[in-house]
Amino acid sequence: MSVFAVILCGGSGTRMGAPVNKTLLSVDGEKAVVKALRAFLAETDGAVLVVKEGEQGSFEAALREAGVSVHAIVPGGFDRQASALAGLRALPEECEIALIHDGARPFIRREDIRSVIQSVKDKGSGVMAVKARDTIKEADEKGKVVRTLNRDVLYHMQTPQGFYVKDMLRAHENAKERFTDDAALMENAGYPVHLVQGHYDNTKLTSPEDLPVQNILPRIGHGYDVHRLCEGRALIIGGVEIPHEMGLLGHSDADVALHALTDALLGAAGLPDIGHLFPDNDPKYKGISSLLLLEKAMERIRQKGFEVGNADVTIVAQAPKMAPHLEKMKENTAKAMGVNVNRINYKATTTEHLGFEGEKKGISAHAVALLIART
Ligand code: MG
Repeated sequence: MSVFAVILCGGSGTRMGAPVNKTLLSVDGEKAVVKALRAFLAETDGAVLVVKEGEQGSFEAALREAGVSVHAIVPGGFDRQASALAGLRALPEECEIALIHDGARPFIRREDIRSVIQSVKDKGSGVMAVKARDTIKEADEKGKVVRTLNRDVLYHMQTPQGFYVKDMLRAHENAKERFTDDAALMENAGYPVHLVQGHYDNTKLTSPEDLPVQNILPRIGHGYDVHRLCEGRALIIGGVEIPHEMGLLGHSDADVALHALTDALLGAAGLPDIGHLFPDNDPKYKGISSLLLLEKAMERIRQKGFEVGNADVTIVAQAPKMAPHLEKMKENTAKAMGVNVNRINYKATTTEHLGFEGEKKGISAHAVALLIART
């Protein structure tokens, strides 16, 4: 059975206060409408986009850039009902089931799209909804509560809303009023409307507050470094000079822990590694404190719009004992990164005398870092 999605992107977006159509705003690094489309195109035979008059070009460009294609992009009408009808009329002849969806709901899950399609096949309709979580009251125009509604039977309507195309076209033709969603139109036309339980995270981008929450994108990075131990060098780890008969060999101060950490942070930000940013044949970096390199790396990371979630470093050394210095390492590192000390962790281990660390030929360090982007 041929199933198509009709994605409504014609909302004015006035509540969003955004200069562009809210379905073209970036969510998880992708335009909201593209993110929604990917889910629908994976579960249906195609899609029709309904956009505001004059915005076809912007949507064509967005789709081209994302490498997705649709059956048609058509101008909508003066309200939601007119736009849905325009979309239905643009469907290909063979399409039997249409799923009407808000382009501003990018978080729709593929499994929920499948459930809606199944409900249409089984019962003639399938409308995404979630149970009301808050108590809902009815009040008069002065704000005085008239009664409290029974929450157990109340649902918030979402999209997609799926029906047979022929049923919807008939309901549109006979409609005497304007409705805020397709379910209401169908209900009024006498068709049974069946709810399909969806998820609360299928939210609609409506107000500016929706965006920061939805656009938090965590990024993880990993770093690893090794330096050889030799005589006649200071041992500097985590920005702390540790008294020891040997030190680490390197072009900079050879702070193995900070190098691993800096690489983890750069990795999470999708930036080239520390050796790329600060080449070890550049005299500028000879003997330089790795705290300074970390500081510079953080500038680059912040320029890309990232903030630090947390970072965790493991130092692998047989000797000397790291435990007395870990707190100071955290402080120095947090200061160089410009973050609260509780976001940074250091720990140390020996290797039970195994390997190059165990034989005291060198010291290694591992680090993981979590960055958070507000796109
Ligand atoms: Mg290094």
